[in-house]
Amino acid sequence: MKRERSSALSPLARTIAADVAGIAKAAAMIRAGGLAAFPTETVYGLAGDATSDAAVARIFAAKARPSFNPLIAHVASLDAALEQGTFRTEALQLAKAFWPGPLTLVVPLAPGATVCSTARAGLDSVALRVPVHPVALALISAVRRPLAAPSANRSGRISPVTAAHVAADLGNSIDLILDGGQSAMGLESTVIACLEDGPRLLRPGAIARREIEAVLGHALTESAGPAALRSPGMLASHYAPRAKLRLEAKELESCEAGLDFGGVFGGRENVRDLSASRDLKEAAANLFAFLHELDALGPARIAVAPIPHEGLGEAINDRLARAAAPRGAS
Ligand code: AMP
Ligand code: MG
Repeated sequence: MKRERSSALSPLARTIAADVAGIAKAAAMIRAGGLAAFPTETVYGLAGDATSDAAVARIFAAKARPSFNPLIAHVASLDAALEQGTFRTEALQLAKAFWPGPLTLVVPLAPGATVCSTARAGLDSVALRVPVHPVALALISAVRRPLAAPSANRSGRISPVTAAHVAADLGNSIDLILDGGQSAMGLESTVIACLEDGPRLLRPGAIARREIEAVLGHALTESAGPAALRSPGMLASHYAPRAKLRLEAKELESCEAGLDFGGVFGGRENVRDLSASRDLKEAAANLFAFLHELDALGPARIAVAPIPHEGLGEAINDRLARAAAPRGAS
């Protein structure tokens, strides 16, 4: 249903079911240079033709994303990834272990690669991922080109895990949203660079560090230098709700809504518990959806209960720290 352009609050993008017809429509739109939001297992992505500088420029504009922050190119198979990037032993090992799935590998650009320079922010490396979500795979296959797809939110805002989140944030600047229900994992992919030296963790994400280290048989190298330079998406202020965040909170103050973990705040109307049973996977899946919900209540501040740093807790705490950081850095 197309809404009236006159209402400032009405999203304009058309939300359609992510069925065979919807996917075909989105694919045709992307092949013609347009943009469509689509579900993945991590968060909703904003897809454009990764081989087209013009289409990728539209993604940067729609998100108001700094052009120095390169995009992940999504492909349907390891074979398709090998056409774009050069995979040495450990990159291949990780790709075989975790694809399809929420792992992004940054590798040297392959000779003859088609992912455009704008998507790579001019770098001679390329970030590649094979997602596991059936709608994502079907869309990539239908477009028959790599899809540049950052999260479908304005740069610096909370990542979307439902079609409604996308419509509320980006509805005015994109044409089509494929609705495939809520994203199961709720956290962005883990980003690993496999460049001149050993694998480096650029961004913690939906696959925990220890799972990756178990496949490699050794610890991941820490990123040398400012993370912002190695992986420009690691800006201090990111994933920000409108409300301020107070981390490691032990109790709720009167002006606050609460993002709980394991029942610290007690059940109240303005509290969402990421996981009453302290399950980090459940907490990751709920993180962005609950931040969206609490933010919509309009509190001055959101208090966040302490969350363990092990396993997926590393990525959850990373996102919360960015959401709490002073604004303006992104
Ligand atoms: P996003 O699209 O915001 O989910 O994030 C993609 C992440 O991959 C960002 O942190 C980017 O900086 C990172 N990335 C993409 N391409 C490269 C690249 N060629 N080198 C280093 N980091 C990259
Ligand atoms: Mg993002």
